[in-house]
Amino acid sequence: TKAGWEDTASYVRRVVRHGVRAKKSLGQNFLVNDSIIERIVREGMPLNDLPLVEIGPGPGALTRMLAPKFPRLWAVELDKEKVELLQRELNAYPFVLLHMDALKLKLANLWGQEKGWLIGNLPYYITNPLLMHFLNQAESLLGMTVMVQKEVADRMCALPGGRDYGILSIAVQLSAEVKRLFDVPPSAFWPQPKVTSTVLRLDIRPYPGFSLEKRDVFFKVVRAAFAQRRKMLLNTLSSGLSLPKELTAEILKAAGVDPKLRAEDVGILDYQKIVAVWEAQRN
Ligand code: SAM
Repeated sequence: TKAGWEDTASYVRRVVRHGVRAKKSLGQNFLVNDSIIERIVREGMPLNDLPLVEIGPGPGALTRMLAPKFPRLWAVELDKEKVELLQRELNAYPFVLLHMDALKLKLANLWGQEKGWLIGNLPYYITNPLLMHFLNQAESLLGMTVMVQKEVADRMCALPGGRDYGILSIAVQLSAEVKRLFDVPPSAFWPQPKVTSTVLRLDIRPYPGFSLEKRDVFFKVVRAAFAQRRKMLLNTLSSGLSLPKELTAEILKAAGVDPKLRAEDVGILDYQKIVAVWEAQRN
């Protein structure tokens, strides 16, 4: 390692000695293993001159590694104590620190029309809303590198036909190509979480896909289907979308989707076909 480089475990130990705490309510488990941190950066993202935002830097384990490599870096942290710590400890690094709720962040406000990258060891209590919030801004992103609980990673990668497959799988796979990179054991963190974590790389699909408006309709259909995931599509769509049974049957027939299937057995393409037929009917 570089001369003068304080390894992350020592760094975190030092700031903790000076009174910095890990707040459970904010999902704070800090990375303290340099080889894992290096691996996240090496395998998780392209290393070119992209605008980059980090969600939840905490004491800055990743931030310290990223700042020398990415001249355009923003770090978004909700916890005032961690913001003050970063201002104090990382003042030699050129990045923009934003003290705010990441769920309110608009990426276009950071880098305009460009496409950037997002990285984060995400706070577990809002992983799902955060993923949805940023997938909804896919037009501002080339990709994301995220660390989540292993079970969430299972759901993000799940294919039709199992319990893990659901709205999150569909939302992620609709917008991105997902690659599961590696698992991270509890021992890589302080304090240690109870569960294993997983690092994933999401490369946003290059074609424009849905406009925001169409996305809304798409998820309306998907949510209706999954509202009762064990029931037949014919019934869940008819009740969830307030459509007569006969019309629902017609839509499914025109889309080429078996009305007896359950939400968890239907792939993304078939949901897209259902949406397309329903849209055509309504217009
Ligand atoms: N990146 C650090 C690391 O890997 O060691 C910390 C990761 S920790 C799992 C999650 C971080 O997200 C915490 O620092 C927490 O304060 C922050 N956080 C929690 N909720 C947030 C929110 N709504 N917006 C921004 N940051 C948030």
